[in-house]
Amino acid sequence: MDCLFCKIANDEIPADKVWENETCLAFRDIRPQAPSHVLVIPRLHVDSLWELEDVALAGALLDGAARVARAEGLEAGWRLIANTREHGGQEVAHLHLHVVGGKPLGRMLPG
Ligand code: 5GP
Ligand code: ZN
Repeated sequence: MDCLFCKIANDEIPADKVWENETCLAFRDIRPQAPSHVLVIPRLHVDSLWELEDVALAGALLDGAARVARAEGLEAGWRLIANTREHGGQEVAHLHLHVVGGKPLGRMLPG
């Protein structure tokens, strides 16, 4: 499968990694939207949150996001974003959680 984030997970494409464990890894977004902008992904390919059935993996990703936020020093607050499928604006079809913070983010929910 020709998947960008699988290639990052397999060290075939470089990325600025900030955290990893057996099942997940986290690296800086190449086009950061805030002072801290990190993507947390499963090592094994899952298309999106829609396809995620492994509850333990869901927990590991959420735990990874919280660990990244603490490591980034985001005491003042941060946001977790999971753009999912077409209407959710997902551009890379390998499940990823955006950890965003380091400045006031404003409201981002529709309406
Ligand atoms: P999505 O819209 O799918 O939720 O977000 C995909 C994110 O991946 C975007 O924020 C984009 O900047 C980031 N991205 C795309 N290609 C690369 C890459 O090659 N390396 C890194 N580190 N981030 C990437
Ligand atoms: Zn993949």
